[in-house]
Amino acid sequence: VDFIKALPKAELHAHLNGCIPLECLQELVNQHPEITSGSDGAVAKGLKILEQGVVLNEINEFFDLFPAIYAITSTPDALKKATRATIAQFLEPGSLGAGEPAQCTYLELRTTPRESSFMSKREYLETVLDEVEKYDKDKCNLIISLDRRMSPVVVGVDLCGTPMAGKADDFLAAFEYARENGLKLTLHIAETKENTEEDTMTLLSAKPARLGHATFLHEESLSVVLNHKETMAVEICLSSNLLCKTVETIAEHHISWWLSNGLPIAICTDDTLVFRNSLVEEYALLLAAPPLGLGLPRETVAQMARMSLQVGFHQ
Ligand code: 5GP
Repeated sequence: VDFIKALPKAELHAHLNGCIPLECLQELVNQHPEITSGSDGAVAKGLKILEQGVVLNEINEFFDLFPAIYAITSTPDALKKATRATIAQFLEPGSLGAGEPAQCTYLELRTTPRESSFMSKREYLETVLDEVEKYDKDKCNLIISLDRRMSPVVVGVDLCGTPMAGKADDFLAAFEYARENGLKLTLHIAETKENTEEDTMTLLSAKPARLGHATFLHEESLSVVLNHKETMAVEICLSSNLLCKTVETIAEHHISWWLSNGLPIAICTDDTLVFRNSLVEEYALLLAAPPLGLGLPRETVAQMARMSLQVGFHQ
């Protein structure tokens, strides 16, 4: 573990509202009891599930957790505190325990601008950006999950949300606009069995620089990916896939396919609040002997950490 902790590495796939430290959420609810009282018990219920540790039967149950989290971060002040605590959890030493080093050396946090009765989408984004901008640009940047606001610290656009909702075609114009304006694309793609190859191919036509999950690629999409080895990387979220049960065992995880084909990958956490994981634990899964982990040699793991830094959008 000391070896993993000391590796310089990047976190490139972390959703803000999925990674807020649990203590921060609890503190926000304690400071603002009106949040729980106004929500017909939904917030209290969601918080209780998070406190107990989430056990998911399928991926849709995961998306059901977010309304409770969103209710807690619906004011600018709460969002500011949540953003600050989330960034600190990755970039500041001590978040994994007293005397422990920071989880990573570079962070690309992503979030979906969201309006509430207390703030507009613009205020949401400005609040998050204020916190991101406290860090140097080679340390922390933001990926907007589908919006087009530009700023030097916004490096990319992400497509996320319930995998079966909406149509991929409807986003192509926005993706092109984003690319024309210098932003890179990272798209959650082929995340569930139900995602069709047509949906996947449409998303690949937008020329994403990184793919999120990419668990269920089929013949045509696999060959597109293989033909874009130089320009396309995948964000691997091992615990997320195992806990959402889109992958049954680590031995069957598609990371092995990407590695054996020499494709660039980045090891990421996805939603530390929900999955109770950390970047160190994700790397530990690479090193640990089967059946718990993949039993990869240290040099391969160190190479993967270097790759995660190379495929950051700050490059
Ligand atoms: P936010 O964008 O509000 O900061 O972060 C939470 C949101 O990220 C969730 O509502 C969901 O739309 C998205 N999200 C988090 N994890 C995943 C994931 O594994 N797959 C997909 N498709 N979306 C996710």
